[in-house]
Amino acid sequence: MKHFDVLIIGGGAGGMAAALSASEKGYQNILLVERKEALGGILLQCTHHGFGLGYFGEDLSGIQYAERFRSKVECSNVQVLLNTMVLRLHPDKTALLSGTAGLKTISFERCVLASGCRERTLYSQEIAGTRPSGIMTAGTAQKLINIDQLDIGDEIVILGSGDVGQIMARQLSQAGKHIIAMIEKEDRPGGLKRNQKDCLEAYRIPLCLNSVIRKIHGTKQIEGVTIQNLNSGKESFLNCSTLLTAIGMIPETDLLKTSFGQETYPDWIKKIGNCDYVHDIVDSVSADGFKIWAEK
Ligand SMILES: Cc1cc2nc3c(=O)[nH]c(=O)nc-3n(C[C@H](O)[C@H](O)[C@H](O)COP(=O)(O)OP(=O)(O)OC[C@H]3O[C@@H](n4cnc5c(N)ncnc54)[C@H](O)[C@@H]3O)c2cc1C
Repeated sequence: MKHFDVLIIGGGAGGMAAALSASEKGYQNILLVERKEALGGILLQCTHHGFGLGYFGEDLSGIQYAERFRSKVECSNVQVLLNTMVLRLHPDKTALLSGTAGLKTISFERCVLASGCRERTLYSQEIAGTRPSGIMTAGTAQKLINIDQLDIGDEIVILGSGDVGQIMARQLSQAGKHIIAMIEKEDRPGGLKRNQKDCLEAYRIPLCLNSVIRKIHGTKQIEGVTIQNLNSGKESFLNCSTLLTAIGMIPETDLLKTSFGQETYPDWIKKIGNCDYVHDIVDSVSADGFKIWAEK
């Protein structure tokens, strides 16, 4: 069985920073495991700019930001295992990995979990009606468009006004799509001020504040939504071909749950990045990654 000083699970911004930091601190055997075919995590689907203002003092796209770190990792002593998923961690500091060559077990001294987060879906909401096609999370839409080069429809309603929803509203507007409305239950939009200005105001995205979706219409394909203003109680129907949900992220800690039970994972595991808590900007994820070995 191969043994490593450090096992890092997840090759996004957090995992890459933690791996580089381990290398700088003098650890020799560092393994960075990523289930996808490339390092970068969520950054790889972010074609928009707004990354690295704090860390590099430059306005980079997500892809460029990932590339800067990926090339640093390639020049380091970090061993990278792509297309490989960590399925289980064990109390004796071994891990079960599944990759293209099948299953294998490795042992390690220290472990960093940098598995990111997942998006909350429409199923977390109490909304009446059907669940036809054309409903997807904003992150899925971003992947379908930016990576798979697919079309997601022309008449779009976005539920939720946080950063991710706003960034998708801007990208879709730039692509000539019609954003029918962005629905937000609070009395003001969420997200960073700069995104409100650059995405909502610049592209005049129609914002329905104090509002929720009450019903989905359509059988095979979504045809529209009924929204309700929470102050007046008034309901109105919006025609649409696509509903994007941008209603928050949940740290991805399933590996801890399946391995140990959420509350009781051993203290030799450190969580970093969005699997610890959801970070607004990538710079703070990278900064945390570099701080993680501070005690060594
Ligand atoms: C749509 C969107 C727009 C954004 N826009 C901006 C912006 O403009 N500016 C900005 O600064 N920030 C932005 N952010 C935030 C920033 O991109 C993220 O906070 C940061 O990249 C998260 O890094 P991470 O390493 O924590 O997670 P992730 O990037 O999600 O990486 C986690 C990695 O772990 C892997 N993984 C998970 N489980 C396993 C396992 N069991 N085995 C192996 N691998 C595993 C996943 O495949 C993934 O590659 C945006 C985020 C999103 C989603």
